[in-house]
Amino acid sequence: MKIKDYKLFTVGPAQMYQNTLHVRNHIVPYFRTSEFSMMMLETIDLLKKFEHAEENSEVIILTASGSGAMEATVLNCFDENDKLLIICGGTFGERFVQICKIHQIPHEILFLGPDETLNKTHFERFSNQRFTGLLVNIHETYTGQLYDIEIIHDFCRKNGLFLVVDAISSFLCDPYDGAKYSIDATIVSSQKGLCIAPGLSMITLSPRMVEKVNRNHIHSLYFDFKDYMKNIKRGQTPFTPAVGVCFELNDMLHQIDSQGVEGRIAEVKARCNYFRNQIQSLPVSLPPFPLSNAITPLRFHKNIAMELFEYLKNEKNIMVNPVGGELGKSSIRVAHIGDLSCSDYDLLIDELRSFLKE
Ligand SMILES: *Cc1c(COP(=O)(O)O)cnc(C)c1O
Repeated sequence: MKIKDYKLFTVGPAQMYQNTLHVRNHIVPYFRTSEFSMMMLETIDLLKKFEHAEENSEVIILTASGSGAMEATVLNCFDENDKLLIICGGTFGERFVQICKIHQIPHEILFLGPDETLNKTHFERFSNQRFTGLLVNIHETYTGQLYDIEIIHDFCRKNGLFLVVDAISSFLCDPYDGAKYSIDATIVSSQKGLCIAPGLSMITLSPRMVEKVNRNHIHSLYFDFKDYMKNIKRGQTPFTPAVGVCFELNDMLHQIDSQGVEGRIAEVKARCNYFRNQIQSLPVSLPPFPLSNAITPLRFHKNIAMELFEYLKNEKNIMVNPVGGELGKSSIRVAHIGDLSCSDYDLLIDELRSFLKE
């Protein structure tokens, strides 16, 4: 199949930066070398810096998509003696529920309705219920809601819970502070805010979580974090990683380091604000809850979302993010990560305007 170059307004894979395209234009080298090890150790230091991770945190570099990292994290951090609270406000929350069901980890679910904002009162009935951990997708990418980390952190602190945050679609888009909010596991993935190829996921564990993981016996060869933590001390992974993506990752982290992580987040936020301002004259609405800078979920007054998606893709080489399920008939998402400029958004908005007029 011939690859067609689209303009990507999608949350992952995202529109790649030129520096990444240059890195991809090399032969993927052999990796059991001291040079590769040095690079991986540097990568880990930069990741921890950008996540504001606690000192002495450990980073696992896993060759798997984000869902693989979600499953591996639950599997390594918890077992049948735990009791987890899962915040479930969309399909990514449901994924955590599914994982706990499959691995028979006791859990309860804090369900949110379609337009419901997570707030303090939701947690009241879960207080003093002997929970040991909480799982949350801090940006529920399905709806676009960005949950309030202060409220979640507060509940976990008062009740002594381990806090696991899937930050896959929020990292490098919204401010993140692992140490400040005592986050025990942070999950990120290569193809979202980092804007590089899919294939790698990184899990950062707090010292407290590392201890728990080391006590836990897991029934898995490939996903055993203990093996990853042992190997990464010498800058290596137990199995062949997505070597090419490791190079893209290191390069991207250096790019971000040169502008500062706050600078990168500000860039995403600026594109996001530009788009949200410009669409005010269009017949679309936004959901009522707090949103991440990563995407804008657009709701139309008619069920035209799939038709619009196909039109933009086939006629204009523009890719926006469709939405699965019921919401998907009348809703699309527009991402603000990647190598996109305001004039790219002008182009998209012009297309939206003329399509919505018809
Ligand atoms: C994209 C995403 C994932 C991972 O999905 P994969 O397709 O497995 O990479 C997980 N959680 C959230 C919140 C996401 O946005």
